[in-house]
Amino acid sequence: MTKTLIHGAEVLVGNDQFAEVSLLIDGDRIAAILPKGETVAGAKALDASGRLIIPGLVNGHTHSHGALSRGGVPDDAILETFLSGSAWLNVNRSHDDLALCAQLSAVELIRKGCTACFDLFIELPGPTVEGTHAVAHAYHEVGLRAVVAPMIADQTIYQALPGLLDAFDGPLKDAVAALSLPDWDSTMAVCSEALRDWPVPMDRVRPGIGPTIPLHCSDPFLQACACLSDDIGLPLQTHLAETRMQQIMAQRKYGTSLAEHLSELGVLSPRFSGAHGVWLSDVEVALLAEAEAGISHNPMSNLRIGSGIAPVRRMADAGVTMGIGTDASNTSDGQNMFEATRLAATLSRAHSIDSAAWVRTREAFDMATIGSARLLGFDRLGQIAEGWLADLVFLDASYCHYTPRRALLDQIVFAETGAAVREVMIAGRMVFAGDRILTLDETALRSRAFAAAERITHANAEARVMNAAAAEVVKGFCLRNCAAH
Ligand SMILES: [Zn+2]
Repeated sequence: MTKTLIHGAEVLVGNDQFAEVSLLIDGDRIAAILPKGETVAGAKALDASGRLIIPGLVNGHTHSHGALSRGGVPDDAILETFLSGSAWLNVNRSHDDLALCAQLSAVELIRKGCTACFDLFIELPGPTVEGTHAVAHAYHEVGLRAVVAPMIADQTIYQALPGLLDAFDGPLKDAVAALSLPDWDSTMAVCSEALRDWPVPMDRVRPGIGPTIPLHCSDPFLQACACLSDDIGLPLQTHLAETRMQQIMAQRKYGTSLAEHLSELGVLSPRFSGAHGVWLSDVEVALLAEAEAGISHNPMSNLRIGSGIAPVRRMADAGVTMGIGTDASNTSDGQNMFEATRLAATLSRAHSIDSAAWVRTREAFDMATIGSARLLGFDRLGQIAEGWLADLVFLDASYCHYTPRRALLDQIVFAETGAAVREVMIAGRMVFAGDRILTLDETALRSRAFAAAERITHANAEARVMNAAAAEVVKGFCLRNCAAH
């Protein structure tokens, strides 16, 4: 493969300082950082004058299936009413729909300066080898770096939350009681086959495993996920203490907190990450740190569905590996890593005027790059340094966010929205330039998305009505339980 010499830009070196240097790209890596003006025989020159080059942002937590669910989450939804009331959005989806979602999701992420993601995608009623591989192929072809993790459970929300079914009566109770998911051992057999026999090269798109929410997975299921993660080195991610309701239900179901329960089961490890971690106690945070586990902080989703503000300072200080994620275009309405990074920095300031307690811009940027990369299990990803992966975002230095310029990294974290993203390179290959994704036809993709969304809405009309009625009961159940604690 030809080497490329990127010159003329100001480059954020080592997530620390901007410098006028050239980057020599060889294959999928940054082979060298060279002084301005230096030439390399045989290397193709890429003029990046007028650009600020930063490492691509890494999304620690999302769900590609959310790409076809935009507008499907009611304005007043909390997590539990989203899970019950918006379930209809995820049924009657084909393998093509799963691939379409991954493509849509990848396009949004790339356009907004993100070059890698941890995707917990769902296939219902349970994962298949073909569906999982369709998602992997989609990312491989678009060019995004990704961990593809089937999101799995063996209990519906009505089975998972103690006492919830008793809150229902009449035909609606019969309807929700009749819902079920496949046995955990058959789900694990499929996952094992799909993830061991990986259909695309592992350098950029890798397998992972996503037991959805501990309460929704039986204990042997969680342990089987951890074993598979151990066996073949898979990153494992679950939604951890996302809502207060989850902790209340954990006390009722396990007699202990969520992370303490996972610790007792032997599920915590350096490959483990929890998404959200809004309601973790000091004891739980210490257990995560001791296990060298991580948390993906997803501030936009936490705000949108009223889950709360995660204790990022407390988790980071305890030594938990912190990444940042967007969550999906369902509960976050979009996937903007710049927005998530800005929120990680600014929300930390809500409770104190002592800046020692704040997430500073550099720390937020590190979380959104090298921090999330660790959750994905990728080495040498998330900063511009020799030997590191060539995942780069080129920002327009003349854009209003950078006029005038005084503290560039602060201006990026506090002001960038993705509007200044002009080119995106992933694994040494340009995937976005000239306001166009270079690896697929976005017009055709849009037509497919509209057609699929219309088909899904039509096919699931009955389920939608039932889900909406169930969500009302779930809402009452959550309000009563939270008020009682
Ligand atoms: Zn999520």
